Amino acid sequence: LIYESAFREAVAQADIAVSITDRQANILYVNPAFERVTGYSAVEALGRNPSILSAKTTPRALYAELWQRIGSGQSWKGRLVNRRKDGSEYLAELLIIPVSNTLGQIQNYLGIHRDVTELH
Ligand code: FAD
Repeated sequence: LIYESAFREAVAQADIAVSITDRQANILYVNPAFERVTGYSAVEALGRNPSILSAKTTPRALYAELWQRIGSGQSWKGRLVNRRKDGSEYLAELLIIPVSNTLGQIQNYLGIHRDVTELH
């Protein structure tokens, strides 16, 4: 199908970090912009939890709210402090979208984020 390869290329070339996880938040896919923004290569990121990006300064309550929302099928958008592989921090504007199967069960999460440190 032509649109499938077009979609794949669009995500691969997008200048915004994209990750796809399973329901347990194990990373299944990252695009090249994710590798550039975070410093983690796809090979390093695959199978890990996006919490590898957490600067560990974000209040637990924010993550609890995030998981409550996405676990109930709603998307969540917010800003958090992320840490790159090299230890440097950046302000991330993150959107997480739950992706359901035909039975309405959450199968995956789509994460899209960009570095907004300069815009802050
Ligand atoms: P965790 O051990 O993950 O838990 C913190 C709290 O979150 C828990 O007390 C619980 O309430 C809740 N929780 C965690 N995992 C689950 C689960 N599987 N089901 C239900 N509730 C759960 N975090 C970032 O810091 N930066 C990111 O860029 C980022 N991107 C993400 C992208 C996607 C697609 C997804 C799904 C998650 C992303 N997260 C991101 C959130 C990340 O998965 C962690 O939950 C978060 O970083 C906190 O990690 P932690 O190890 O400190 O706490």
